[in-house]
Amino acid sequence: MRAFLFAVLLPLQGCVCLSFLPEICSPRIYSNPRYEHYPYTSYHFDADLKTPSGMVVDSSGASIDLLYLDKQADILEGCLHMSIQRCAVRIKVAPDWKSEARGQYFPCTANKEGMCTGIIQYSATIITTPDAASFRHELIHLVTQIAEHDHPVFKKCDGR
Ligand SMILES: [Zn+2]
Repeated sequence: MRAFLFAVLLPLQGCVCLSFLPEICSPRIYSNPRYEHYPYTSYHFDADLKTPSGMVVDSSGASIDLLYLDKQADILEGCLHMSIQRCAVRIKVAPDWKSEARGQYFPCTANKEGMCTGIIQYSATIITTPDAASFRHELIHLVTQIAEHDHPVFKKCDGR
């Protein structure tokens, strides 16, 4: 009987233990110390969705097109000729986003207007709006760590 219990419990325990292991694919892959000291936004990240390719999303209850996000990552990957670790990409919809004539935005401290369409929060979370209009732009910042907008990579791959 005891041997039988072990036979049943061991694999079960194996599963439980594995689920507590730290995730191998972490947003730290793309963390950039350059962004750590610029807390333009300070949203809490609490994932509720995942794109089919594995990017982690906090929708803030807004409707966001997960396939569109994946498509932008695919396009960028092709343009940059580098692979993007999808599971290390975290995307947060700003819960206080607003819409105006020029498009969707959220409050931030990165510019005089106090409005952003996208930004990297601290080191590795992309903040966006439900239309994700600036998602690919922010993803360039995230995966290449290039901050300068006059860099040729932005001209070539941004698509805005
Ligand atoms: Zn930018």
